[in-house]
Amino acid sequence: MTEQKIKKVVIVGGGTAGWITASLLAKVLGKVLDITLVESDKIGTIGVGEATIPPILHFNAAIGLDEQEFLKATKGTIKLGIEFDHWGKQGDSYMHAFGGIGKNFPFCDFHHFYLKVKQHNIKADFWQYSLNYQAAKHNKFAKLNQLPNTNLPGITYAYHFDAGLYAKHLRTFSEKMGVKRIEGTINKVHQAESTGFIHSVQLENEQIITGDLFIDCTGLSALLIEKTFSVGFEDYSHWLPCDRAMAVPSERIDPIIPYTKAIAHAHGWQWRIPLQHRTGNGLVYSSKHLSDEKAKSLLLKNLDATPLEEPRIIAFKTGRRRKQWHRNVVAIGLSSGFFEPLESTNIHLIQSAATRLLKCFPHQGIKEEDVNEFNRQAKIESEQMRDFIILHYKLTQRDDSNFWRECQRMEVPESLMRKMALFAQTGKVFREQDELFTEIAWQQVMIGQGLIPKDYHPLVDSLSQQQLDDLMNNLKTIIDKTVEKMPSHNEFLTQLSKPKFV
Ligand SMILES: Cc1cc2nc3c(=O)[nH]c(=O)nc-3n(C[C@H](O)[C@H](O)[C@H](O)COP(=O)(O)OP(=O)(O)OC[C@H]3O[C@@H](n4cnc5c(N)ncnc54)[C@H](O)[C@@H]3O)c2cc1C
Repeated sequence: MTEQKIKKVVIVGGGTAGWITASLLAKVLGKVLDITLVESDKIGTIGVGEATIPPILHFNAAIGLDEQEFLKATKGTIKLGIEFDHWGKQGDSYMHAFGGIGKNFPFCDFHHFYLKVKQHNIKADFWQYSLNYQAAKHNKFAKLNQLPNTNLPGITYAYHFDAGLYAKHLRTFSEKMGVKRIEGTINKVHQAESTGFIHSVQLENEQIITGDLFIDCTGLSALLIEKTFSVGFEDYSHWLPCDRAMAVPSERIDPIIPYTKAIAHAHGWQWRIPLQHRTGNGLVYSSKHLSDEKAKSLLLKNLDATPLEEPRIIAFKTGRRRKQWHRNVVAIGLSSGFFEPLESTNIHLIQSAATRLLKCFPHQGIKEEDVNEFNRQAKIESEQMRDFIILHYKLTQRDDSNFWRECQRMEVPESLMRKMALFAQTGKVFREQDELFTEIAWQQVMIGQGLIPKDYHPLVDSLSQQQLDDLMNNLKTIIDKTVEKMPSHNEFLTQLSKPKFV
């Protein structure tokens, strides 16, 4: 495509996506790249995004963020999973808890043992064997790599935080690492006639910023990848029908729960995300089924504390850009697509795309092979996440609104259909190569929403009834005793203000 060496990178946009990308590039390639970030105070950022998933710990560690400083700066709390209320049926509740459940055997996941128990006891509870779930529901947290005196996995966690404060924290970090920040609104984009590559962007004050590689982090406006290059959009709204969010913060509630709540209602669902200083709330809904006025009153009615601001509407369309990298532009963040916030995947997608860019970094010039490989991996990643999120809507048994009836009846991607059918018949579920969500995540959503397999793995029958009972009871006892000894989540957060926490 081009032999021109990549020395100057221009990141357009200073939301969470812009500063995450800047910090990673600066940390790893800061000595060989000249990195500039342009952001517009006039346009501002989207101002939502509070829940994350466990890989964020690896990202923060990779750039060298101190966890205690990070949690203080972002008003962060701990997230052990997402509780889904009223998704299968009204009145139901289950959790996608992070980490392991029970004890895995070679060739056979733990849920097969649970499925046998459930055949005799319909009320048997899968989550009794989840350390994360039990800690979450008891408002407990401790950093624990393993269950004491066993080789069973310990706590797996992520964070809730204010994404705006995270971006600010990363800005300080990036600027220290040499990233130059320019404030201003871009109103012109200049392309080379021969190649169509972007060679510069121009601000309203006529300042021109040149670059070899441009990262489009302009959020939903997708200034470079779509407005300039028109790469096209793959629309997922027939599978993910919500297209609006109404967001409002409310006063802090104690104790601060260490998990996200996703509460289904007749035309979508509501998030509740506890931070140190406030709770984030938002109603995600389908504008075809619910007016903005009704959404506002529903959201305000379902808050558990006094709102701190007027609710605001964010319109979006679910789907992804057909190409995330085109010519010398790589789109990262909302400019590259959006699924909806149900499984908190978007900040992860930013970190994953920034990491992928680094792995494919075109220092000797942009090669078609790099671009194709980057786009291929991005597509697979998106489709795997898309399927997992659709699963929550498809598996509903709710019949109280057209919204849920349409979700039940919709045709889902063949890849998801296959996964659901295999699980229903055999109890088996396989994680695709490099897939973000584990088998245990899939099991929890499918079992939690009432898809109970007809069969279980034959290894289970090699245990006598007594051995099976002992296994289940022992696991439950170990987990209960561990949780009993853990400090509360509030205590953990209080420790943050002290000089060092463990
Ligand atoms: C309702 C909702 C809830 C969400 N919840 C979660 C969640 O819980 N967890 C999660 O992981 N993700 C969540 N997300 C996604 C998350 O908010 C975004 O992925 C994240 O904030 C990144 O946004 P961004 O940086 O791409 O865009 P933005 O925050 O919109 O930033 C865009 C940047 O580009 C700049 N810009 C735009 N145009 C120009 C121009 N012409 N000139 C100069 N600068 C320009 C802006 O000034 C801004 O700095 C949610 C999203 C929505 C819509």
